[in-house]
Amino acid sequence: MNNLERLTFYYLAGRLFIPLPRYLIYNPTLRCDLACRHCGIWEAEKQKELAPVDLKKIIQRKFFRKIDTAWLTGGEPSMRKDLKELAAVFRDSLPGMRVLGIASNGFATERILARLEEILSELDPTRQGLFVHLSLDGIGEVEDRIRGRVGAFAALSETVKGINGLKKRYPARKIELGFNCVIQKQNVDQLEEIRKFAQDQGSSLTFNMVEITDQYYCNQDRAGELALDQAEKEQVIIFLKRLIPQSGAALSYQYRRMLAVLSGQKRDRRCLSLYSTLAIDADGSWIPCPLCSEWKRVNFISDPPEIFWKSKEAMELRQRVERELCPECMLSCSLGDSLSVPEFLRGGF
Ligand code: SF4
Ligand code: SF4
Repeated sequence: MNNLERLTFYYLAGRLFIPLPRYLIYNPTLRCDLACRHCGIWEAEKQKELAPVDLKKIIQRKFFRKIDTAWLTGGEPSMRKDLKELAAVFRDSLPGMRVLGIASNGFATERILARLEEILSELDPTRQGLFVHLSLDGIGEVEDRIRGRVGAFAALSETVKGINGLKKRYPARKIELGFNCVIQKQNVDQLEEIRKFAQDQGSSLTFNMVEITDQYYCNQDRAGELALDQAEKEQVIIFLKRLIPQSGAALSYQYRRMLAVLSGQKRDRRCLSLYSTLAIDADGSWIPCPLCSEWKRVNFISDPPEIFWKSKEAMELRQRVERELCPECMLSCSLGDSLSVPEFLRGGF
């Protein structure tokens, strides 16, 4: 998609037409081998997980023909022993897929590296790249504390080395490593160190603020422990102000938005993720967005996505999320579609 198409998509989606999704997010499992303070997924009731054949039934529909980027998230996706088969389903079902991404906690180094190689062996080397995003919420003991496991940071560092080794072993393959950091009480003093760690790896890094919600992250019961006090917010604001001029258009927009919300203002642009992204949970149900509570009603095993996507019900839900949740949301979803005209023209995506 070029910039003009992207602009058209951004301004007209949901106003004049409902576009087909371009991003697919799939949680192959909600199991996880870590126990992060800011996330309750690891202790939530486990869901039935779609077998590769069931996933195929869903995503081989024509409805998914525009998907160019697919992500495996979770939970910890590498806990699925059949990730290789799932990768093959993605390859065979999504003719336009250029990138298969995997978001991992980086903890079980050997298992993760083995799964990455398996995925790589299934992707078409002529047209499909592999993106790996590792969670990096602290350096040393801070990471261990946040993840609830002694040795988490050491393991993550080994995984990073292993992925860099993978890139060297497959020089002709497109393999990218990036990091995600959830800003929270435990790491507000370390944000600069975290930034430096990613920079030293030559890898991208996206900061998000911890979101407290009884939905996807299931952490509402720890709200008191997780909410930043005013002094911590000020610290984050100072850090973001330094970060913005060093960041590309999409991230600088994300950080300006975080700044606005932290300062008591509202998000100033639409989030297109409810139009551009289809997220499927481990059991096949729709996740409209991580903050939305009404995501258990539709399961794509029985409800055809192409009918639901354009339904009045889905449209009303999008409008409600936009009205009630988006103004104060600091998550970095759908960033590339939320840029202003000058940012698009600067090639900011
Ligand atoms: S944030 Fe990720 S790594 Fe941590 S418990 Fe949740 S799913 Fe697991
Ligand atoms: S901005 Fe936040 S609340 Fe709105 S759709 Fe995106 S993730 Fe959901």
